[in-house]
Amino acid sequence: MTRAGAFIGHGRKRIAVIGTGISGLLAAERLATKHDVVVFEADSRIGGHTHTVDVNTSDGPLAVDTGFIVCNDRTYPEFLGLMSRLGVPLRESTMSFSMHCEASGVEYCGSSVDGLFAQRRNLLRPAFWSMLKGIRRFHGMADSFLESELTLGELLREARLDGAFSRWYLMPMMAAIWSAKPEALTRMPARFFIRFFSNHGMLQVKNRPQWRTVVGGSRSYLDPLASTFSDRIRLNAPVVEIRRQQDGVLVRAVGSESELFDGVVLATHSDQAARMIADASDAERSVLSAIPYQANDVVLHTDTKLLPKRPKTWSAWNYRLPASPNEHATVTYDMNTLQGLETEERYLISLNSSAMIDPQKVLRRFSYDHPVFDQRCLQAQAKVGEVSGSGRIWFCGAWCGFGFHEDGVKSALRVAADFGIGHGSTSSSSVVSPMRGVAL
Ligand SMILES: Cc1cc2nc3c(=O)[nH]c(=O)nc-3n(C[C@H](O)[C@H](O)[C@H](O)COP(=O)(O)OP(=O)(O)OC[C@H]3O[C@@H](n4cnc5c(N)ncnc54)[C@H](O)[C@@H]3O)c2cc1C
Repeated sequence: MTRAGAFIGHGRKRIAVIGTGISGLLAAERLATKHDVVVFEADSRIGGHTHTVDVNTSDGPLAVDTGFIVCNDRTYPEFLGLMSRLGVPLRESTMSFSMHCEASGVEYCGSSVDGLFAQRRNLLRPAFWSMLKGIRRFHGMADSFLESELTLGELLREARLDGAFSRWYLMPMMAAIWSAKPEALTRMPARFFIRFFSNHGMLQVKNRPQWRTVVGGSRSYLDPLASTFSDRIRLNAPVVEIRRQQDGVLVRAVGSESELFDGVVLATHSDQAARMIADASDAERSVLSAIPYQANDVVLHTDTKLLPKRPKTWSAWNYRLPASPNEHATVTYDMNTLQGLETEERYLISLNSSAMIDPQKVLRRFSYDHPVFDQRCLQAQAKVGEVSGSGRIWFCGAWCGFGFHEDGVKSALRVAADFGIGHGSTSSSSVVSPMRGVAL
């Protein structure tokens, strides 16, 4: 019998789900098939990092993603299975990467030889060739570090890859993926990062995954996912305290009395979860405190000065390395490329670069927190299964994996499985469809 099975027996129970990102919504949808769920959301909308906003442009209204944007047909099987089950269409997207270094003036994009040498001087730069050799060498040796205990910084030093390869390729690429600063990335366990790169086909030159975005913006899946329990979602209801009793768990949200539930699913970030549980066990505290979150300042704008100088190198993800070491490196997502927006003006999302953006060209500002993975994260993640459900409180969230949508989905399905509930899809493999803009 599963842990939930032991306490639930055969009866219908009252379960509180806290948080409505992908993890909370899917956990609630699955649990609502057999139990009475009540969903608490601090914000005035559902979705968490699934946040598409409407922008009125001279080309007409646009729905632009500002948090979760892309997935692929290789490493998102459960998420794509879910989209298939809900009948939510996806479209093919383009994944490409550029780097602009202000100090050296180097810029390139990685999608073609022409893009690599769009700046012809790169042909004559020994450091540029050293970066290219480093990429080849790294791809050849990465698998041998799959069990390594080193941090990424130590690995790069040991393999003598801490020069141009790290500065102009690896760190920019990783910062774009994890929305994190290079200093934080060097503390990441090497094997965590290599497993991610390997899973995502990023160590292969050929046969890379096909990336996809949700037609109409990622919010298109929210209402279908929440349709069976939407009347039980409480918006503007930040939970401030969770406390266990002999016969259940008390949940207190701002402006309400404490309410008793048989169990609670915490689908917030790990640090938020830690703050809510008044009587956390040592084991819960040690897991939740091991994966801190870092705030990212996110701006939707139209200022193309954040892109590389040469339009030929403009890519889906664009990284800018500042001249001064005191300034933060920045990442700009080109939403026209990623979402296939057909407009004269380019719509861009930049992270941590507010000061550089022409205020006249700013459309919206947001702050999203992202998990920071260091050496403690692997041990903590390995223990989530032990602590989740051990005291009537379950945990899910993208932080239980690599920090992405598929991780949120898998973590919610693990909670559902603990309650003896399946993932609801007939087959997740049916979703790998080459169709463009058609329900999968
Ligand atoms: C800028 C950016 C771009 C990204 N792009 C991608 C991408 O393209 N692909 C990808 O796979 N991943 C991407 N991600 C990662 C993304 O974080 C995850 O994919 C995923 O959306 C996180 O889901 P979650 O359910 O774990 O958390 P969230 O979506 O953050 O949901 C947590 C929810 O809990 C609520 N909450 C918090 N505290 C309380 C409380 N006390 N009471 C009640 N509710 C509370 C929050 O309001 C929120 O709604 C991106 C992240 C960022 C920041």
